[in-house]
Amino acid sequence: MPADDPPRDPMPTDDLFARAVFAVEADLFAEARRQLSVCNACRYCAGYCPVWPELELRTDLTDGDLGYLANLCHDCQDCYTACMYTAPHEFALNPPRVFAGLRADTYRRYAWPRRLPAWLTGWRGTVAVLMAAAALLIAVSAAATGRLLSATGHHPGGPYEIVPYALLLVLAGAPAVWCVAVLAVGAVRYWRDIHGPVADLARPRTWAAALVQAARLRHMRGGEAGCDYPGDAPSPARRRFHQILVYGFGLCLASTVSAGSSRTCSGSARRTRTGRCPWPPAPSAAPP
Ligand code: SF4
Ligand code: SF4
Repeated sequence: MPADDPPRDPMPTDDLFARAVFAVEADLFAEARRQLSVCNACRYCAGYCPVWPELELRTDLTDGDLGYLANLCHDCQDCYTACMYTAPHEFALNPPRVFAGLRADTYRRYAWPRRLPAWLTGWRGTVAVLMAAAALLIAVSAAATGRLLSATGHHPGGPYEIVPYALLLVLAGAPAVWCVAVLAVGAVRYWRDIHGPVADLARPRTWAAALVQAARLRHMRGGEAGCDYPGDAPSPARRRFHQILVYGFGLCLASTVSAGSSRTCSGSARRTRTGRCPWPPAPSAAPP
């Protein structure tokens, strides 16, 4: 471990799970340093993605550096396919796999809360949370409407007959706010870990460049040929699937916000004397 790394927590003595994580992490970081020291001498992959130019700037890799490099990697596999030191060579390099392990480690450390009870993790946790959310929704709906998942005869197809609109806003908004808070905590922990300059966060140009790169998934282009996916041949398929998913979610969010605002607007319009939507405000009368 480089001299300026913060000391790791001592090996836990009473928690078997924490002991296992500690041992795996120690091996993972040592293995990453071994592989990347070979890469830093080789530098064949310099043009594939931003990981390699950033690696060249660092000869003494801290844990924060490793997390930074791992989160620059988009797992396109181009370096692995091109590498002449993969198994059965004795170096047995596999940078994408070691970066994937490091990323998983950062996700665990940056998540908030850091530890959950075992029954809340994995598939068991997913099923338990979904069932708890469904039960909460049914209970809240019954308490608010006095009916059990049924509409009145006046609006038999109206979803707000089952969960009133204002209540739905709270039920959907609370988890959304929670998600934003969790992401913000993760971002702060990541920024601290990589010793990111705070001044960079105030530069609009930096934000614009990052947003354009994220929207275009530039790092998933490998050496411009695309990821080696689904086979060993380079292809843009993986990048396009990711973009379809992200833009699909974006459109879903836009349609939900637009439906919500038009409903709010039409409700307000009914309450005004003019019957006009209060937004945008009407232009003021011409000055005398
Ligand atoms: S992955 Fe292989 S080819 Fe690429 S820089 Fe590392 S050692 Fe060189
Ligand atoms: S983005 Fe691709 S080329 Fe770059 S490190 Fe990851 S797998 Fe290798």
